[in-house]
Amino acid sequence: MKIFWTYDELLTHLRRGGHELLPLGGTPDGSPLVAVRTGGDKLPAVLITAGSHSTEHAGVSAAVELAGSLDTPHQVYVVPTRDPIGLNGFAYALELGLGHAPDFSTFDALASILRESGTVLHDADDFIVALIGDYGYACPVPRPDRSQPQNYGYKRLQRLAGEQPDKLEPLRGRRLFMAPGQPGIEGSGDFGRAYTLIIGLDGEVLHLNRFHDTTWAPAEPRAVRDLMAQIEPGISFDIHESQLMEDRFWLSARRQADPEGQVWEERAAQAVIRAVVASGARLANDADVSGGAPLEQTWFTRSEPGVYWLDATVRGEGLNLMDYASRHYGMAFGTEMGMYGRFADRVRLGMLTVTTALEVFAERHA
Ligand SMILES: [Zn+2]
Repeated sequence: MKIFWTYDELLTHLRRGGHELLPLGGTPDGSPLVAVRTGGDKLPAVLITAGSHSTEHAGVSAAVELAGSLDTPHQVYVVPTRDPIGLNGFAYALELGLGHAPDFSTFDALASILRESGTVLHDADDFIVALIGDYGYACPVPRPDRSQPQNYGYKRLQRLAGEQPDKLEPLRGRRLFMAPGQPGIEGSGDFGRAYTLIIGLDGEVLHLNRFHDTTWAPAEPRAVRDLMAQIEPGISFDIHESQLMEDRFWLSARRQADPEGQVWEERAAQAVIRAVVASGARLANDADVSGGAPLEQTWFTRSEPGVYWLDATVRGEGLNLMDYASRHYGMAFGTEMGMYGRFADRVRLGMLTVTTALEVFAERHA
């Protein structure tokens, strides 16, 4: 279960594995976005993606492992990470704005760099936001008791944008990188990744798993959207993780437009949950998914333990990749593995989701 600390390392690993890499486009730092073509020739095709939230690295490792191990007659396209810049870590992202490699190993040292090198837009309550070069940077100081919810800094930036929009005005139309601040989480840590956010011209703060249904979209979601238009996947997976729940697991499913598709989506979801439980993993509860709010006040409904159906029209923020896949192409699942589990277990659960749902998919198209 390999952890990739640089995108070069990941690409080298894939090339050494003999994989054919399809170029999908480039990111603002010039990194190539790629898909691995594997599986057989049968249609409909399968799409597997991960890494739009770079801090959720077990998904990336699972996607890479699947690219090398999946045994299916169907065409398979694996996009191992949807955020190469974020995968490379916060120091790498900061260098894009600074123009030179920064030197820091603590939040205090990082805060000094942001204060001295950029235009400071916010600096209060252990949260610094600065504009350096063409990019925004944010540094939330982590709480040692893990009490911060997932995307703590991301939610905080959204709140700041809502309450004091003028402060973030210089960031409009830009991308912002946030230090994860996830001590004790294997594959991310305090600075090991850069969580990428996009600030719209209207001031809205969104991450890279959005923009799939918008005319304008950052390079990363646009590239995957274009790939989908080409391969028309009959089933799609996006492997995520969650910091909200120790080591528990839940499956994010999507209503299908056609009744027959819905039957298969439900069947695959049930098979995944059975396999996850049989593996000894624990399922998430409603509070894990809702962040503590009553479930009916969220955009999720639960059909059975561990299976949550996401309604993007209630959530807002446009369509994420699986919302988009379910509306245009077919079956779609997101995973959420608890990030405080062992890294190898998190990877294994991501892989188990895909292999189990693909068995049901193969039955459907037998
Ligand atoms: Zn995620």
